[in-house]
Amino acid sequence: MALIVQKFGGTSVGSVERIRGVAARVLDTVAQGHRVAVVTSAMSGETNRLVALAHDIDPLPFSREYDLILSAGEQVAVGLLALAINAEARKRGLVPEGGTKARGYLGHQVGIHTDNGYSKARIREIDTKLLFSELDAGIVPVVAGFQGVDDSNSITTLGRGGSDTSAVALAAALRADDCEIYTDVDGVYTTDPRLCPKARKIERISYEEMMELASLGAKVLQIRSVELAAKFRVPLHVISSFSNTPGTRVVHREELGMSMEQVDVSGVAADNNQVKYHLRGLPNRPGVAAMVFGALTRESIVVDVIVQDMPVSGMASLSFTVGEAEALRTQTALERLKAEAFREMEIQSDKSLAKVSIVGVGMQHHPGVAARMFQILGEQNIDIRLISTSEIKVSCLVAADQMKLAVESLHRGFGLDRLD
Ligand code: ADP
Ligand code: MG
Repeated sequence: MALIVQKFGGTSVGSVERIRGVAARVLDTVAQGHRVAVVTSAMSGETNRLVALAHDIDPLPFSREYDLILSAGEQVAVGLLALAINAEARKRGLVPEGGTKARGYLGHQVGIHTDNGYSKARIREIDTKLLFSELDAGIVPVVAGFQGVDDSNSITTLGRGGSDTSAVALAAALRADDCEIYTDVDGVYTTDPRLCPKARKIERISYEEMMELASLGAKVLQIRSVELAAKFRVPLHVISSFSNTPGTRVVHREELGMSMEQVDVSGVAADNNQVKYHLRGLPNRPGVAAMVFGALTRESIVVDVIVQDMPVSGMASLSFTVGEAEALRTQTALERLKAEAFREMEIQSDKSLAKVSIVGVGMQHHPGVAARMFQILGEQNIDIRLISTSEIKVSCLVAADQMKLAVESLHRGFGLDRLD
């Protein structure tokens, strides 16, 4: 008998019919003799609706209240799913009329404690007492993903895709035998199957590669969930909620064996939510970059690719990218910096860029991978604006309208295309 955490994404609970399907799947797992804790996202589209409402009232709504609003979608999903499990359990004769097989919980009710970083809160600890007593009593706890509670009893949210992280954190806290992430694709692919029809399903992928793919735009798993899974050795399994095909297992690198190591590139990621900032007219002296990025860090803005250009006529310039969601806050922070410190600074931004990246642990042992990437893009006349690399990835900024072409040619060029 295993303890399994099952997480269902927005599409998986997107309608009453689908919620019934999820309820049946949960009870099938219970019927195999396992104990199951469930985490669910809001019904698809619901969180976007709440985001739009908040932005209608305030273009910069990020605050305690914003998290309160955004967390509401999960409350409905959790209630509906618990209702559906109970109805199905009665139909199967597992509980008597009026009996209970599942109970829905919000994050704060099951002690999911976070810091107070609204909209990107981090889970600190989970109090498992109530959850274990439910599991021991044969109840399926259905827990709201994406949310927690901070020290001042305010509701926090974990950032988009945060239910993945809720599920992994719960699995770690409960020492679950498996954490199953049910979604609308049947696993992790060599690239986003929506973008490139030739994408192939990966049977097993290392935590490191999955982390890179997630941070570079593959939203199939939230990056934080993969970090947590690696840290706490949570077995992670990405599966489809709509079929019974085997999914993708995220495993430690040593479990991959040699054959995978020989591949230099395992996947291609793309992200068109990038804004490039170009700052000109900065004083050319040490400490300036530290002041610019210090100002952004104080606003918790995560900066990506950075390039410091050669100074021209005594003035320095600097380029970097941020996620589109942070563009407004970045602009505000830069304007404040201009007013306070760098009056000569010119701020230019460009939203028409996308980041395409190749990822693979095998890259470390294969020199020349970056050169091949530039060559493949060059053959398609794709202009590269910025480049950044790490041990196991190379990213290039390209024009957004060339993103699909870039992904497809890299996918083909590195031998990832499906053969049929
Ligand atoms: P959920 O609502 O279940 O959390 P998401 O929409 O967050 O689902 O993530 C699933 C989506 O991730 C897929 O529909 C797919 O378009 C996208 N995706 C991006 N990159 C990949 C990849 N490499 N493999 C699989 N899916 C990917
Ligand atoms: Mg998701």
